[in-house]
Amino acid sequence: MHVTSDKFSKNAADALHDPFLQGALQRATGKFVNERLRAVAEYPGFEALRDQGRAIKQEALDRLPELLEQFEEKVIERGGFVHWARDAHDANQIAINLARSEGVKVIVKSKSMTTEETNLNHALTEAGFEAVETDLGEYILQLDDDYPSHILAPAIHKTKEQVADIFDRRLHEKNPPDAGIPGLNTIARRALRTKFLSAQMGITGANFAVAETGTIVIVENEGNAALSTTLPKIHVAFVGIEKIVPRFNDLAVMLKLLPRSATGQRMSSYTNFLTGAARAGEEGPQKLHIILLDNGRTKIYADEKLQGSLRCIRCGACLNVCPVYQKVGGHAYGWVYPGPIGAVISPQYLGLERGHQLPFASSLCGACYEVCPVKIEIPHMLLELRNRVVEENTKATGRPAKRTFFEALSFQLFAVAARRPWLWGLGSAIGRRLLRSKASGGTVGKVELPVLRKWTSERDLAAPAEQSFLEQWKQRSGSKGGRA
Ligand code: SF4
Repeated sequence: MHVTSDKFSKNAADALHDPFLQGALQRATGKFVNERLRAVAEYPGFEALRDQGRAIKQEALDRLPELLEQFEEKVIERGGFVHWARDAHDANQIAINLARSEGVKVIVKSKSMTTEETNLNHALTEAGFEAVETDLGEYILQLDDDYPSHILAPAIHKTKEQVADIFDRRLHEKNPPDAGIPGLNTIARRALRTKFLSAQMGITGANFAVAETGTIVIVENEGNAALSTTLPKIHVAFVGIEKIVPRFNDLAVMLKLLPRSATGQRMSSYTNFLTGAARAGEEGPQKLHIILLDNGRTKIYADEKLQGSLRCIRCGACLNVCPVYQKVGGHAYGWVYPGPIGAVISPQYLGLERGHQLPFASSLCGACYEVCPVKIEIPHMLLELRNRVVEENTKATGRPAKRTFFEALSFQLFAVAARRPWLWGLGSAIGRRLLRSKASGGTVGKVELPVLRKWTSERDLAAPAEQSFLEQWKQRSGSKGGRA
């Protein structure tokens, strides 16, 4: 995948001018937000559950080295193998070596952000394997040489007509007239079933890894992870080291939080618990290999101010409520992890040089924190990263961060007016009158002033109220003024 995080502004501008994407984002994020609200409202004590989720994931971080070793021990006890991968290349190479040593030709994959992070499909294809994504959205993207734009709904940027065209071109299957989405599902199911039956290896991610029992848990809705982990004789799971939870009982909390926050479901259609390889007389893979991936996580772990971002359970709730993500979608962020959590973790994985624009892709409204099931302090982390970007620039140029002429002038004017209430009142009255004279239907059109030109090129500026807050305050309280 070509990383374009350093071009966030340009990517975002392109996304804003894509009418289809705008409609798709509005529908998808609106649906997820409403479903989550409904699911949360019907669960009394959801706030306490969030506290519990946070505590579990924080305990896992506090005891991470010890829990990872315990997890390894338990997996081996149950007949599995554990591999430690320092980075994406190591992890991919381990999977490739395993596949080669087992004579594998066809590999089925279930949706995994961790393997997106390591660019596994590319590595497997380069190494000569046929690797097939089996999550419907991921399968569509793979056929079209595209990549996900949402953690949960990877292909939200595609129309059903586009999908029909992709299937026609790549699978030589035409969707019958009036067959619609069910017809497309049938085509994909037919194509994928043959892959499931011919694959010698299944590769998945994991939502949780339980230290106490060596169990990995995969939450899904399509059943493709269940098939990928049971039909092929070898199962390989890519697991980020932050996926650890201490105890099996912790899943009682995490599995209530994840589906409600992600899709608004009480529980997902399939929850797969996988503990070791199949024993005599049992179904499942004869060999289980778990690749524990670092790839920059220990660096984040050592960072006191940003360590909390490792609590993320990739539910996607923060993306759906984010006013920036809602408008620009996932591709604008230019790497695997989009939205508010992407703006926090991508600069840490990619480095500030490539991720420097992302911490600024936020209005800091705090909606992400309000919905996060494990209470990650995303706005604080974004501010911290903004400070670091400024510090890095200062170090690189040898000069303190420079404001543009217009920024400097604006702040000086603001300082002068803010110290003189009469001037503030006069300035705001003139500004209000000017803007109201341009307003129609409650909004002001494009404003040809330096700071407002860009702002109003993409959105409507609401017409100012007839009276200022202070004027209304005086009127309502009958006060003659003074400090409020
Ligand atoms: S930061 Fe929180 S809300 Fe966002 S994906 Fe991670 S767990 Fe979900």
